[in-house]
Amino acid sequence: MSATTHTDRLSLSCLDDLPRGLFIAGKWSAADDHRQLVSLRPSTAETLTTVAHAGVTDVARSVAAAGAAGRPGSRWHRMSPAARSRMLHRIGDLILENADRLALLDCLDNGKPLRVARAGDVPAAAAVFHYMAGWPGRLNGENASIYTGSPERHLALTVPEPVGVVAAIIPWNFPLYMAAAKVAPALAAGCTVVLKPAEQTPLSALALAQLAQEAGLPPGVLNVLTGDAATGAALAAHPGVDKVTFTGSTEVGRSIVRGAAVDFRRVTLELGGKSPNIVFGDADLRQAIDGAAHAIFYNQGETCVAGSRLYVQRQVFDEVVAGIRERAAAIRIGDGLDRDTEMGPLISAEHRTRVLSYLDSARADGARVTGGQVPDSPGFFCTPAVVTDADPQAPVVREEVFGPVLVAQPFDTVQEAVALANDSPYGLAAGVFTRDLGLAHQVGRRLRAGTVWINSWHVLDPALPFGGMRGSGWGREMGKAGVDAFLETKTLINDLGNRSWGPTPASK
Ligand code: NAP
Ligand code: MG
Repeated sequence: MSATTHTDRLSLSCLDDLPRGLFIAGKWSAADDHRQLVSLRPSTAETLTTVAHAGVTDVARSVAAAGAAGRPGSRWHRMSPAARSRMLHRIGDLILENADRLALLDCLDNGKPLRVARAGDVPAAAAVFHYMAGWPGRLNGENASIYTGSPERHLALTVPEPVGVVAAIIPWNFPLYMAAAKVAPALAAGCTVVLKPAEQTPLSALALAQLAQEAGLPPGVLNVLTGDAATGAALAAHPGVDKVTFTGSTEVGRSIVRGAAVDFRRVTLELGGKSPNIVFGDADLRQAIDGAAHAIFYNQGETCVAGSRLYVQRQVFDEVVAGIRERAAAIRIGDGLDRDTEMGPLISAEHRTRVLSYLDSARADGARVTGGQVPDSPGFFCTPAVVTDADPQAPVVREEVFGPVLVAQPFDTVQEAVALANDSPYGLAAGVFTRDLGLAHQVGRRLRAGTVWINSWHVLDPALPFGGMRGSGWGREMGKAGVDAFLETKTLINDLGNRSWGPTPASK
């Protein structure tokens, strides 16, 4: 495939008005050392474009800009909650007004199907801004009663305050949505942000900066630094950063926590997962098969919540697995620009090699693998794979593959299903398919996961807290919890004095 077809030329025009510099203090600039970073188009393996590659001095410039923009007395600091709310709402509106272009940018840069980006990522990003626009006017403190002293003598209140400068570091799988998920709640709380998109998918973050500028966000409130892992590391470690909010791999999350220990800066982490999906024998099997396939194959399997471990009650195991194998074989793989495409390429050649290595080692251990083929194309494609008869301790069963690879295993009892599901260092998401809603809720309460879907998967909403337990991270995004993550609570205590009532002031 070549980048010179008519459709490609039309599509690539979405890059025409896109700045490729760093967005710092409301201005676009080159990196101080003029370095550039290449972004590939995974569907063709060709260079899509180049963007600025931020270095340590650019990180310092952007953190200083964010610090100045949020300082007491600054325009952002003085802005009324009503005005802040309107600003967030406007950005949400602009995302919808520019939906086709934004979807195209993520489609070209990440490889995902255009119609998935247009129907999923882009409206979801707008919804986060619209939902978060409701919070600035509702961030109330409390009129707190003192417990050990005289309530008449002490007037105490709590005040929510923005945590300060936020470093937001995001991965490549949902580029625009991830940017929105970090930026919108941070702005709702009154913070200022330095956003670092993944090096493979920098473009929609730059477009978001453009829209924020168009919405009138004061300079420095949102800064965007395109760069690589070293840029992210320098940003996360910068002493001017008050909070790091990170989505990405567990290893990088660990390194961010180590760095944060130096000065105890705040950290929220959304990390990896190996999410279990339990199908009971009484489930609507058509719904369970479709649901299980959607759980693992959506977005090429490159989702942190992918339902990658499937546990099926033994009497329906063969039927469910056969159904999923059939669905997998029918998934149309191709360039995301093609309207028929249901699954795009993986993000990079290196990532595909890593995904395939799990399948090779499963086969070598005697597991049965269907799919997992590499089509004859320059893009980084890999067909969806289903693995059965794997050793329960094999890497493909224990580790996050982050690709379209499902591992299925039978179970006999409810207790066994719950034990198998919870036998993981992760705890991000889980699912239960059954017609017995009582069973679904009781099993759901036993599963160690931040989100449990019942007869569904991938339902996310800006009002519903999202995040992981154990190796899947710290804290929650979305909902009120997601805004609280960007607030500090201050307590103000006023000692009104110990009065003995004399003459009233009027009679003095
Ligand atoms: P990654 O390597 O951890 O990268 C994530 C982001 O961190 C990128 O912007 C990356 O920059 C940056 N980064 C890399 N090294 C860094 C360092 N030492 N310090 C600070 N920042 C650093 O993850 P990935 O491979 O791109 O993404 C896949 C992973 O993300 C999977 O494990 C997946 O489970 C996880 N994920 C989790 C969620 C969730 O919500 N829980 C959602 C999506 C993905 P470069 O791109 O420039 O290297
Ligand atoms: Mg790219």
